[in-house]
Amino acid sequence: MTSNEIKALTGQYVMNTYGRFPVALDHGCGATVYDPEGNEYIDFTSGIGVTALGYGDEAWVEAITKQAGKLGHVSNLFYTEPAAKLAEILCKRTGESCVFFANGGGEANEGMIKLARKYSFDKYGKGRSTIITLKNSFHGRTITTLMATGQEVFHNYFFPFTEGFRYAAANDLAALEEAAGDDVCAVMMELVQGEGGVLPLDYGYVQAVKKLCQERDWLLLVDEVQSGVGRTGSLFAFQQYDLLPDVVSFAKGIAGGLPMSGIMANEKCRNVLSPGTHATTFGANPVCAAAGLVVQERLSDAFLEEVKEKGAYLRESIEALNLPCFGKTRGMGLMIGIEVKEGYDKGQIANKLIDAGLLVLTAGPGMRLLPPLVITKEEMDKGLAIMKKALG
Ligand SMILES: *Cc1c(COP(=O)(O)O)cnc(C)c1O
Repeated sequence: MTSNEIKALTGQYVMNTYGRFPVALDHGCGATVYDPEGNEYIDFTSGIGVTALGYGDEAWVEAITKQAGKLGHVSNLFYTEPAAKLAEILCKRTGESCVFFANGGGEANEGMIKLARKYSFDKYGKGRSTIITLKNSFHGRTITTLMATGQEVFHNYFFPFTEGFRYAAANDLAALEEAAGDDVCAVMMELVQGEGGVLPLDYGYVQAVKKLCQERDWLLLVDEVQSGVGRTGSLFAFQQYDLLPDVVSFAKGIAGGLPMSGIMANEKCRNVLSPGTHATTFGANPVCAAAGLVVQERLSDAFLEEVKEKGAYLRESIEALNLPCFGKTRGMGLMIGIEVKEGYDKGQIANKLIDAGLLVLTAGPGMRLLPPLVITKEEMDKGLAIMKKALG
């Protein structure tokens, strides 16, 4: 099919819920993707932070193919090796104690919220179920995670929402204390706010939140759906904040492009969700888990160090271009935000770049880059050249 045919068919038969860019994609290699007509695009998006190993990675394709031929799905009523191994690796590399596997970020966060409320219910009974989240956060699109999201634009249309969330400004300990109360059971936050505009929290603030949580027996819930799995240059961002969250959620990059997510709990929280209290049919799918194992194998300490270096290189190079529309960059590793100067429109900039052959994202008030973690220097330089030509 041609791009135009794909677009027309989508318009006719797929529900119109996305503001899509006018590009159909057909295949890819590394951090480069192609439309059906063979036009090339450098990918600074990873399908919103998902394709950590880029496109067509040989080991990834082989592992998936092999596992699909052996066993594609069996449910969680039986044991399978790939999920057990993936859970072991994740725990051993982070210091967390156990994993629950699910399928998407919003769903993982639902599990995290359930765990926090049950922890408190088991210990203190009813009435202590409020979770404080941060303003400008993003936690998902379910009725509950929309409410967990600290942005009013998301609290619309779908009433009634789930009760029990209060919001505090990020990096403001006084605001958190003000939101506190006898009804609170947890604080939930992204360490680098992704959709909100790539805003890393201050180290000191995070340490103070950790202390407050310990003092009041609030669970510290960390949403690493976007920042996890090597994106920031460590396996999880919490490792750069000297933190061991009570519960942490992950998703996007975990299986390098297949739908998988989950939560990890520390020793204190390992038995809160007991048999019959939480489940999902597709969770821990062996093909997804086999893909996850390849991702974990690739993300060695040396590889993660390179992610940091690549991120620094991209940020320095973008700032050195001195483009009229761009201000400062920010972020961690290959999770990068670019300030868009007043008078320029982020959507127009994205469309211009995509039209010129560079896929980019927007977030909050600016641009966002989430390239595949395997992106090469040549691909980064190609992308930078496109940026210079299209926006100079
Ligand atoms: C993407 C994202 C989610 C939602 O994940 P889905 O897989 O789309 O449900 C939740 N939290 C954060 C931080 C995200 O970036």
